Amino acid sequence: MLNEQLRHMLQAMPKAELHIHIEGSLEPELIFELAQRNGVSLPYASVEALRQAYAFTDLQSFLDIYYAGASVLLTEQDFYDMTMAYLRRAAADNVRHAEIFFDPQTHTARGVPFQTVIDGIWRACQDGPISATLIMCFLRHLSEEEAIATLEEALPFRDKIIGVGLDSSEVGHPPEKFARVFERARNLGLHLVAHAGEEGPPAYIESALDVLNVERIDHGVRCLEDADLTARLVREQMALTVCPLSNIKLRVFDVMGDSNLRRLLDAGLVATVNSDDPAYFGGYINDNYLAAFDALPLDVHHARQLAKNSFAAAFLEPERKRAWLAEVDAFFDAAQAA
Ligand SMILES: [Zn+2]
Repeated sequence: MLNEQLRHMLQAMPKAELHIHIEGSLEPELIFELAQRNGVSLPYASVEALRQAYAFTDLQSFLDIYYAGASVLLTEQDFYDMTMAYLRRAAADNVRHAEIFFDPQTHTARGVPFQTVIDGIWRACQDGPISATLIMCFLRHLSEEEAIATLEEALPFRDKIIGVGLDSSEVGHPPEKFARVFERARNLGLHLVAHAGEEGPPAYIESALDVLNVERIDHGVRCLEDADLTARLVREQMALTVCPLSNIKLRVFDVMGDSNLRRLLDAGLVATVNSDDPAYFGGYINDNYLAAFDALPLDVHHARQLAKNSFAAAFLEPERKRAWLAEVDAFFDAAQAA
């Protein structure tokens, strides 16, 4: 249960965010503003009507509205504004470093050039108030050929991305569908991550590890259904980017009290807390921490562990990683001494 002191610590502690889809940070207000600026007509009469449409019930109905929202993004400035809005919001939650997913195929399929997308997002990351890097995701409901074409398009901008990931509809699109494009990305020296074990079975986590060679699992909460897999993830200290509010909104768990975050930590897994698609799932990273700690038997030790996990699992140079881990310890040592 959440007391005032713990609430304050969760909000104020330094943290990294490793699972945030930038298109999922588009608030209804900004969608309307961009629609107006670009002369795009929306199938919603008002900001309120759009917000009400956010009451989706599963991954597919969420994705339908997610792609509708993204349709207002046309110019480099649009991508810049969206990204800057997220970075400012994350800074307010004391996020020090964010590894941001973006979905180029959502935009190139609408005729928006790849360069427009990446230039806008990347420029905001340079200008923004926190450290931020980019992970390009492939939409797994599309073909591997399309993913390979997207990787080709990204080559001139190789220095602007640190890795690739795999997102969108999980069920029916196992990781092995993308074996070749991930191998190609690995040969380019890119970091590899994939969504697995959210709606999909634990077997998808295994094939993400064995076939794609990922270095982090996005979500991964269903790993606990398989004891051998859990033991392996612990042994390999494979980080899981858990998104508590997303899991409730998409009905992975009925209520936050059913979330397995505490059990993941108890099992020795490197779990982290993240916001996924904050505009759509009811909150940014601190809302996720607060909701989880409010409903689950989690205390200050778990808070410190989660903050440390977030930096330990980040794709950072060892020196910066060490500095941020030390900052987390200093924060908690001072807070607990007070
Ligand atoms: Zn996600």
